[in-house]
Amino acid sequence: MNVLKFGGTSVGTVGSLKNVKRIVEALPSDTVVVVSALGGLTDKLIATAHMAAKNEDWRSEAEAIAKRHYDIIDQLVGEEQKQTVLAIVDSLLEELRRTYEGVSLIGHLPEKTLNIIVSLGERMSAPIVAGIIRNGRLHNSLDFIKTEKWFDKNIADAVLTHDLIVKEFSGNQEGPHITGGFISQDRDTGEITNLGRGGSDYTAALIAAALNADMLDIWTDVDGFMTADPRIIKDAKVLPSMSFIESMELCTFGAKVIYPPTIYPVFHKNIPIRILNTFNPTAPGTLISDSSDSKDYPVKGVTAIKNTCLVRMIGSLTENVARINTRAYNALARHGISVFLLAQPGENHEFSFAISSSDRQNASRVLNEEFAPELIDGTLDEITFCNNLSTIAVVGEGLKCLKGLNGRILNTLSRFGVKTLAFSEGNSDTTASFVVEEKDTVDAIKAIHGLFF
Ligand code: ADP
Ligand code: ASP
Ligand code: MG
Repeated sequence: MNVLKFGGTSVGTVGSLKNVKRIVEALPSDTVVVVSALGGLTDKLIATAHMAAKNEDWRSEAEAIAKRHYDIIDQLVGEEQKQTVLAIVDSLLEELRRTYEGVSLIGHLPEKTLNIIVSLGERMSAPIVAGIIRNGRLHNSLDFIKTEKWFDKNIADAVLTHDLIVKEFSGNQEGPHITGGFISQDRDTGEITNLGRGGSDYTAALIAAALNADMLDIWTDVDGFMTADPRIIKDAKVLPSMSFIESMELCTFGAKVIYPPTIYPVFHKNIPIRILNTFNPTAPGTLISDSSDSKDYPVKGVTAIKNTCLVRMIGSLTENVARINTRAYNALARHGISVFLLAQPGENHEFSFAISSSDRQNASRVLNEEFAPELIDGTLDEITFCNNLSTIAVVGEGLKCLKGLNGRILNTLSRFGVKTLAFSEGNSDTTASFVVEEKDTVDAIKAIHGLFF
C-alpha cells in the first residue's frame, strides 16, 4: 500500500487536479492520499486575515477564495457528489467569513484564530479532491493527527496519533482514502492547530509509518530532488536516489522539497520516499531509501537557510570548549532552541554557533542567565548575536572521502567575493556547512554548486 501526498501546486488548478485524478485512479483502492490546500491558498488566507485585522477590504479577497473553490467544484466534481461536496464547502466558507468578520471587529488576530483560518484550506481541498476521485472516501485528519504543546510550538503527539491513524484506517472500507494534510488538533484542549508550514508532507509520513506503507510518494511540481533549488540554479540536476540521512540534512538546511520532520517517521520504519512530478508523472523521480550511491554522486546538493543568527561567546572561559558547549547547548535545549551549526574555534578566545534568527531574543536571555557568573567574574567578556546571515550546506555521504574539502570551499567562495564568517566543526560526515552574509546567499550557492556539479 502506498501513501501519496499532493502539494499545493498539484491541487491548485483544474488541469493539475485532472492529473491527480488520473494518477490516483490507476492505483489500488487501499491507497491513502494526503492533500494540501489549493496552491497559494494558505498564504492568501493568512494575508486576508491580516487585512481583516487592519479593517482593510478583506471581503473581496474572501469572495475570490470562495469563487476559486466553486469553480473547481463546478468543473470537476460529478453530479452525484456535487451536493455533498457543496454542503461541506459552503459551511466552511461561511465559517471563514464569520471568522474574518470577528477579526475585523476586534481589530486583532489572535494565534488561535489564525490557526482556524489556515486550517480551512485543507478542510476544503480534501472534500473537493474526494469528490473528484472515483470512490474517494473522505477522512477528517483533525480526528487523528493530534498535537501537544512544546514550549510555544505545537508538535505531533506521535504515540496517540499513531494509534488513532491505525484505528481510522483499519477495517475493510474501500478507498482510495483522501485526507487533508497540515491540520491537527490539540490533544488536550481540542483547539485546531497545525504541523507548521509545508506540514502536509509530515501528515503523509505519519500515516505511512502508522500503516506500514510500502512507499511514501511526494507528488510535487519538479522532476525530483535536485542538486540545488532550481529557482536559483537553472541547470540543477535531478538526483536519481539519495539516502534518508542525505535528504534529512538537505531539508534541515533549507531544501524546500520535503518538510524536514517528515523523514524521521518513515526512516524509522525503512519506508522509502519517492519525489515525483504531478505534471510529468512518467519521469522516474528521486528514490530516498537507506542506501546512497555515493560513488557516482559523492555530493548530493547545496542548500541554504536564511535567517541565521551567529552567536559568539568571547573570553577565556571558551578555552574549555567541551564544557562551554555542553552548558550552552543544554540551556538552549531546555528552552526549545536548537543549534544547527557549531563553528570551528577561531584564533581568539571565541566559541560560536548558529541558531535561527527567530530564536535570537530567547537565546540572549537564556545564555545571559546561564553564564551570569562568568560574565560578572570576567572569564566571559561578552556574548554577541549577529543577524542577517545565511547558513550554506553541502551534503553527501561521499563528502568524507573528498580531500581538502573545507579549503576548496573557502577558496571558491573567496574567488567569488563571498566572505565566510564561520565554518562548521567536522561533526557530521555528511554535511559541511558555513555562514555567510545573507546578501551573499545566491552567490555562495552558485559558487559551490559550480564547484561540485
Ligand atoms: P508542494 O507545494 O508540492 O509541497 P513545495 O513548493 O513545498 O511543493 O516544494 C517543491 C519546490 O521546492 C519546488 O518547486 C522547488 O522550487 C523547490 N526546491 C527547493 N530546493 C529544491 C531541490 N533541491 N530540489 C527540488 N526542488 C527544490
Ligand atoms: N497548505 C500548507 C502550507 O502552505 C501545508 C502544505 O502545503 O504542506 O504551508
Ligand atoms: Mg511542500
